[in-house]
Amino acid sequence: MIAVIGAGLMGAATAWRLARDGHETTLIEAFAIGHRRGSSHGTSRIYRRAYADPLYTRLAGQARQLWHELEDDTGAHLLRLTGALDFGAGRDPQGIAANLAEAGVPHELMTASQASERWPQFRFTGPVLHHPDAGTVNADATVAAATRRAAELGARVLSGVRVTGADVLPQGGVVVRTDDPETPEVRADAVVVAAGPWLPDLAARLGVPVPLPPLRVTQQQVFHFRQRDPAARWPVFVHQERLSLYGLPSGADGGPAPAVKVAQHNAGTPTTARTRSGVVDPVSRDVVTAWVARTLPGLEPAPVAEASCLYTLTPDEDFILDRVGPVVIASPCSGHGAKFTPLIGRIAADLALGRAELHPRFALGRPIRTAAPG
Ligand SMILES: Cc1cc2nc3c(=O)[nH]c(=O)nc-3n(C[C@H](O)[C@H](O)[C@H](O)COP(=O)(O)OP(=O)(O)OC[C@H]3O[C@@H](n4cnc5c(N)ncnc54)[C@H](O)[C@@H]3O)c2cc1C
Repeated sequence: MIAVIGAGLMGAATAWRLARDGHETTLIEAFAIGHRRGSSHGTSRIYRRAYADPLYTRLAGQARQLWHELEDDTGAHLLRLTGALDFGAGRDPQGIAANLAEAGVPHELMTASQASERWPQFRFTGPVLHHPDAGTVNADATVAAATRRAAELGARVLSGVRVTGADVLPQGGVVVRTDDPETPEVRADAVVVAAGPWLPDLAARLGVPVPLPPLRVTQQQVFHFRQRDPAARWPVFVHQERLSLYGLPSGADGGPAPAVKVAQHNAGTPTTARTRSGVVDPVSRDVVTAWVARTLPGLEPAPVAEASCLYTLTPDEDFILDRVGPVVIASPCSGHGAKFTPLIGRIAADLALGRAELHPRFALGRPIRTAAPG
């Protein structure tokens, strides 16, 4: 039996993978399924292959196949292709284009005026990279569908049950302790810890010393801007110059009229999952609103909705996917994990079953680089 702690995107996908492959599984979630206190709520996340780092371009391609498997198995429509644009001098569209060419991912590099003709809702000043194999994934729908389907396939789902610790058994396996008087203990062969921003707190109570890389939890904020032309089709985009911003069609989070979600990638406020305020940073609102007014003439430059969310960042922005004894740590956030969800579910499930090949970039004890994967 495999226990999974946390029903955010990663725990839900892990439980689905395990149940789909016929393994006895218990998924334990501290709050209601689909809650908004962690990293996985909201209707939209970017799926893209455009990374400066070939590893993530390759993994996103593998994830794409598994998104289709998850959609087929759950009957839910989760991935919507829109294409993606990368622009801004700091984003290095030419460098990313070279990486996509190497990986055989279709793409076009355009001048600012060519791109402006095609996407008049943007104001470009330099080269623009377009690749069609990109779009949005619906995070809320993914958590709901994966959890529901895992249960249909026989997984036990305990929601509103908090894991308080774990004891590793000398004879093998682990006992997971909870705050639920009806299920105070869950005995498992292995436990997958997919606790997102709660990981730093929980790790110390897991019965084995888990040598985590330094983790930084930040509160981020996202803003939704209404489209001036409701019929315009918006690609997802990543822009980097002095600021680093991204945007994507909002889905239902933007309200009844079509809207685009825009946010800063690396301007979060350090916090913890327990103490975060949930209050949207007014400075970030001003920065994003001013950028939208300058760069996205296709949007009305006043946000119609906003939300906060938590990043859990490693210094190198690589994921953690590793195992210590019977404890698997699955912490793939650093602000870019959602697009890989069903692949992470498979890797975490395989680690728990003792059959995954560990990737050195995701190892707990790796030497920490400072360059981010982009
Ligand atoms: C604002 C924002 C925008 C993002 N945009 C993108 C994007 O465009 N593209 C992309 O690829 N990625 C994006 N990401 C990253 C992506 O959303 C995360 O990688 C992903 O949501 C992480 O999911 P998780 O399951 O690890 O964590 P979480 O969603 O936080 O889930 C952890 C779960 O564990 C539960 N838990 C914790 N402790 C316990 C306990 N003791 N007992 C029981 N349960 C417990 C929590 O309640 C929670 O439900 C974004 C993230 C944010 C915050």
